[in-house]
Amino acid sequence: MKRILVAEDNPANRELIRTILELRGCEVLEAGDGEEALLKIREIRPDLVLMDVQMPRLGGLAALQEMRADPGLAPIPVIALTAYAMQGDQERFLAAGFDGYASKPIDAKALWRQMEPLLGRENVGRHGPS
Ligand code: MN
Repeated sequence: MKRILVAEDNPANRELIRTILELRGCEVLEAGDGEEALLKIREIRPDLVLMDVQMPRLGGLAALQEMRADPGLAPIPVIALTAYAMQGDQERFLAAGFDGYASKPIDAKALWRQMEPLLGRENVGRHGPS
């Protein structure tokens, strides 16, 4: 079972994403801001992170940069969640180091399309005995 950390300060969005991912057989863990996200990512080593860009205390981009600076966390794929729907945003977030991009309001199929290839990577699923 793939473990997904959803970092998002809006509880309604977290609940929606939880429903979408649990229907696809994922285990979902939640964080309400960037600092809580980093604590949980260090603790549980999720297979993938969905990271809201705008969060209190620590934003998604700063949290991503902390992950990439930590060799243990750097390989974990991170998808940006953002309410921005401006043209060019996708390229901007990919250039910033995110592995994918999903705009809000969340579309279940579009979100899963971003996630699926990243979950198939060989560097995920490191929870069992190696
Ligand atoms: Mn937010």
